[in-house]
Amino acid sequence: ADGFTMENVSGIGWNDGLSGDGSSEIEVGARKEHVERYARQLVLGSFGLESQKRLMNGVVLIVGAGGLGCPAALYLAAAGVGHIVLVDTEDTVDRSNLQRQIAYSTRDVDHSKKAHALAERIRAMNPNVEVTAFTSGLHPWNAESLLDGIHVALDCSDNVLTRYVLGDACAIRHIPLVSGAAIGTDGQLSVFCDSEDTPCYRCVFPVAPPAKCVSSCDTGGVLGPVPGTIGVLQAMEAIKLLSSFSGAKSLSRRMLLFDAAESTFRNIKLRPRNPQCIACGNPSDPSSKIHQVEKYNYGRFVYGVNADGLVCKPEDDGLLSASDRMAFSISVQELYEMVQSHKQLILVDVRSQEQFQMCSLKNSVNFPLSVLPNQLNEVHQLVQKNQNDDSHLIVLCRRGRDSQRALRVLHENGLMHAKQLEGGLSSWRSHIDPSFPDY
Ligand SMILES: [Zn+2]
Repeated sequence: ADGFTMENVSGIGWNDGLSGDGSSEIEVGARKEHVERYARQLVLGSFGLESQKRLMNGVVLIVGAGGLGCPAALYLAAAGVGHIVLVDTEDTVDRSNLQRQIAYSTRDVDHSKKAHALAERIRAMNPNVEVTAFTSGLHPWNAESLLDGIHVALDCSDNVLTRYVLGDACAIRHIPLVSGAAIGTDGQLSVFCDSEDTPCYRCVFPVAPPAKCVSSCDTGGVLGPVPGTIGVLQAMEAIKLLSSFSGAKSLSRRMLLFDAAESTFRNIKLRPRNPQCIACGNPSDPSSKIHQVEKYNYGRFVYGVNADGLVCKPEDDGLLSASDRMAFSISVQELYEMVQSHKQLILVDVRSQEQFQMCSLKNSVNFPLSVLPNQLNEVHQLVQKNQNDDSHLIVLCRRGRDSQRALRVLHENGLMHAKQLEGGLSSWRSHIDPSFPDY
């Protein structure tokens, strides 16, 4: 309609393969753009035009816009996937994310929501890709509707609850799920639900990890290239599932284990689908079958709590009782006043040695919670050395959970006057010293 077509230029015109016979509605400028942009995969014998067309009609859901989601989304966008749906929470970009979440820049810190910032990056890189970004998070109440029209889902999340909700929803809806995980220097990758015999996430992980692991306040360390590698491999698996290019073999019924420290990749075989699985099978007790994720009690399954928040699988999480917490906690304001009035303080920081060396309060000493039970003699010596009528023994950690666990250890070993810093260093930063690093 704008009057300029290739026909005007050469009098012959040209066909592009991607949009059919050349009489297509797609304007010639867009056709030229597609051919040039995707040339390197179009000329690849095993991939080619037909695979590219399938990719361009593909709709992908990416749950989590973090260390896995960033590289996965960028590679899928670059390859020309038709529509990418991103789901993350209301979280904005944190400075400590930048080490691995490579779609973000320093100016995104503290003000851009991750899902929105990632969508922006995708649009800038490949405007042919349609992007939809949700900041609702993925929950039992919206998981199945988010999967409407989705061809492949990617689990790039960082928490157990989301993994089960998405895994179950994909099992119920028969949508292939590319599941990635990375922690420390280890990565994991598998594809679930992409065929009749392929297990779902719950077939492989029928039992949630203990509540202690789920609710730890200790931040897990990770080297950026580890989620980077797994995220890129998730994009590769999604490209295989969407385009089924010649020779592509999905990672279903296998799990790939990446050891970055050793530079090894291993493939382990997974058992076939469990016919008794409550998500993808027909359990002998039909009432246990999950028909809709919305109706299933994930709180009880993952945390051992029922809908009212009551613990039904009593499991000691090591935290203080409510009354002990009232009696044996001090606020960051109280600590600040003690420092100001030169009270004699013994500050015991129970975070890991790595975190302590990274940043710590002046004059605090480090007894990591994991080794505290073996270092009680040293703690006793420290207390005796500094003892006077007015000395205070205060235990602190990152967010005020491990300090409660440590306090129980100290109380059980005779250090009854010890108290814990409520809210930990995170609260200290929020209320007293904003210059203390947020990590
Ligand atoms: Zn299953």
